[in-house]
Amino acid sequence: MNILVVGSGGREHALVWKLAKSETKIYCAPGNAGIAQLAECVPIAATDIGALAAFAKEKKIDLTVVGPESSLVAGITDVFEGQGLAVFGPNQKAAQLEGSKVFTKKFLVKYGIPTAAFAAFTEVEAAREYVKKNPRPLVVKADGLAAGKGVFVCKDQDEALAAIDQIMVEKAFGEAGREIVIEECLSGEEASFLAFTDGETVLPLPTSQDHKAIYDGDRGPNTGGMGAYSPAPVVTDALTEKIMNTIMLPTIRGLKQEGIVYRGVLYAGLMIDGDDIQVLEFNCRFGDPETQPLLMRLRGDLAEIMLATREGRLQDVSLDIDPDPTVCVIMAAGGYPGEYENGKKIKGLKKAAKMKNVVVFHAGTKKENDDIVTAGGRVLGVTAKGKTLPKAIDAAYSAVQAIRWQGAQYRRDIGAKALRRELAQMPAKVLVIMGSDSDLPVMRAAADFCASMAVPCTMTVASAHRTPKQAAKLAKEAARRGVKIIIAGAGMAAHLAGVIAAHTNLPVIGVPLDASSLHGLDALLSTVQMPPGVPVATMGIGKAGAKNAAVFACRILALSEPGLAARLAAYRDDMAREVAEKAAKLHQMTDDR
Ligand code: AMP
Repeated sequence: MNILVVGSGGREHALVWKLAKSETKIYCAPGNAGIAQLAECVPIAATDIGALAAFAKEKKIDLTVVGPESSLVAGITDVFEGQGLAVFGPNQKAAQLEGSKVFTKKFLVKYGIPTAAFAAFTEVEAAREYVKKNPRPLVVKADGLAAGKGVFVCKDQDEALAAIDQIMVEKAFGEAGREIVIEECLSGEEASFLAFTDGETVLPLPTSQDHKAIYDGDRGPNTGGMGAYSPAPVVTDALTEKIMNTIMLPTIRGLKQEGIVYRGVLYAGLMIDGDDIQVLEFNCRFGDPETQPLLMRLRGDLAEIMLATREGRLQDVSLDIDPDPTVCVIMAAGGYPGEYENGKKIKGLKKAAKMKNVVVFHAGTKKENDDIVTAGGRVLGVTAKGKTLPKAIDAAYSAVQAIRWQGAQYRRDIGAKALRRELAQMPAKVLVIMGSDSDLPVMRAAADFCASMAVPCTMTVASAHRTPKQAAKLAKEAARRGVKIIIAGAGMAAHLAGVIAAHTNLPVIGVPLDASSLHGLDALLSTVQMPPGVPVATMGIGKAGAKNAAVFACRILALSEPGLAARLAAYRDDMAREVAEKAAKLHQMTDDR
């Protein structure tokens, strides 16, 4: 079979990688340096539909797979089908679901599919009036395609008015901003829901979650996507059923009533708040970077599924999904999503390629002599699979650590949100023991830090003096239960940490607590002065000590967990940023005086 993949990003590399697993000859237009290792790249732009169709005829292409929305919205499917060429992707009318936000919002309202309340405007003054009359957070969106930059989430009226000006007066997105949507700002957790559909049957892919903001903790401007993982635990089985029944199937049926047969991948961007699900947007193609982790989990022949989709045979198809989770960390050029430089030599690709369960998908790369250099904002999608989500995250970050170029940046918290959701089900790695329940307000600082780092932690009470057998039992059994480090906090003659250390080979960290008229000095001295051969790493007194005990425990764990090491690095940067912000505030105050 001859296949042509249209596009040049990480999504297209993942498509080529998956299609190449079956016996096929693959071309890619225009492709990138990574794709060139699997397919023959041809220098035709993804939107040069005429040239692409001529190429497909000349090479007797059996199936063309279209990656980017721009080609679909421009009508590539209609042109190809008009010439008898098989293509995977919706036609121009169906692609309006992504091509026009006004079309989609009106469609959603007409068919009772849940979405934020909205109004559409073609006149600047009317839009401004609407904002002035609605003093609440609003989202302002350009109607047409704007390479992911046409959406402004505005916290107040000034921001909304500025967004209107940028789109309608300054015409930052040209014709795409002739009309705008202003909608209610929703809160919750976002998830991506992708499905194959032939216009009748909807066959969902596993759930996934994207990370749009550039910085850790979802801070900073939006990007094309800085990482993704699958599955997304926020979308439970019950929610999947609800999404199918209230969003995906009604959409496909509604389109049919409008005379539109949607064939391809339908991607719903959702906002989930408890049981409440709202459609933020539709995309008419595979997501980037969700495709990378999704296709790593999809078993079977992708070309077969695609042919069944376009031929209306999806009712006979079922998807075979690898249960192991996958994670994709995007490595981007320094400066992205603002201005950035191309042409930086990428090192470590060979080392990363040798790692088990890791695939490095190229997004913006090109070959220069014998080197692979950066050629785009998003450069690589380092994708890994693991038996568990933490293992997949570790595998992805250990590959990321092997790769470098000048100015490379990446988020260090990809998957952390999902980990935090799963923490309660994971066996504890850190065991926090305190001498009395009255120590809880202080010792909670340790558990809170572990939770923020997505490290499973459990707390219990045991006393070295009043329940010595219980304390010894906890220490003896900890390793067998999967605990890696014990934190023991106690006040007065604090022998708890020492007793625990005497009964285990695990590292023990002691936290002296202020529980007597000696204000913790008693506890400090009895914790720190251990006989040789029975060490307790002693922290400072009280809450700060409890938190530091957890930071120290996480640092020990991070020696063998690259994902945790990345999150700890982000935490250090956060502290530095906070100090810098405080310094800036203080300077401002002194300047004002
Ligand atoms: P869209 O292209 O419409 O999905 O918008 C891009 C991003 O803007 C989404 O992924 C959300 O993070 C954010 N966004 C869009 N619409 C809303 C909304 N109504 N409320 C809150 N955030 C939104």
